[in-house]
Amino acid sequence: MSVSAERVGITILGSGSSGNATVVHTERDALLIDAGFSARELRKRMELKGIDETSIRAVLVTHEHADHICGLRVLAKQLGLPIYANRGTAEVLRSRDDKLGALTIFAPGSPFAVGEFTIEPFTIPHDAYDPVAFVVKHGPVKLGIATDLGHVNQLVSHQLRACDALVVESNHDLGMLRNSDRKWSLKQRILGRHGHLSNEDGLDLLRKVIHSRTRHVVLAHASRECNDYGLVEQGLRRCLAELGREDVAWQIATQDEGAQTIWVSHSM
Ligand SMILES: [Zn+2]
Ligand SMILES: [Zn+2]
Repeated sequence: MSVSAERVGITILGSGSSGNATVVHTERDALLIDAGFSARELRKRMELKGIDETSIRAVLVTHEHADHICGLRVLAKQLGLPIYANRGTAEVLRSRDDKLGALTIFAPGSPFAVGEFTIEPFTIPHDAYDPVAFVVKHGPVKLGIATDLGHVNQLVSHQLRACDALVVESNHDLGMLRNSDRKWSLKQRILGRHGHLSNEDGLDLLRKVIHSRTRHVVLAHASRECNDYGLVEQGLRRCLAELGREDVAWQIATQDEGAQTIWVSHSM
């Protein structure tokens, strides 16, 4: 394959408060970011989306919440995959599951390579032990994948600038969350500086980081009870129109279906 025909795919297997997993892939190599479904479910979803599980080189973990790791140990064992996490996340994962085996440690702020990819992990504000999000680079292609954000700080918006494709959080509608049956303490947690981005917050983040080279946007990690995919779509359409960026392809990732594969080619 010639260099100009090279392309990188992002396939979200599922996204939301009940499970998250995303694959970044080329013809040869793939990375799994988070494993928040059972191993059986992850493998089923990969097969449905045409991802060759033997091309996966590693699982990268963003943080230890169950919706990101519940299939981690079993899947890694079944497919013989190394697990990558930062020190804090690795410690808490090991303390909860002594059968996890060896983990490969990365440091936020220090890029590392797996297969054909360069990964840049960066610290995010979220109520986990040491949470991160990732920028993944392949040749000239830059992909930004960041959910589970309590708020957007300068580091987050700096890291996500000038991406070809962006996956960012759009967790809840403020009114639906306030009116939901959730306990006050849980509402405070979600709304807090280390909780999750509301739909408006997610769009504000997009406005900050969208760039002339951005071709694809996915809004992700939408809550089942406190959000509505239609509302998320309305907001996103309005936002892209205001920005004069109706040329950007967009999707809303769902809990059950994830999203369709986004392809970004090197020549764009
Ligand atoms: Zn989550
Ligand atoms: Zn989380």
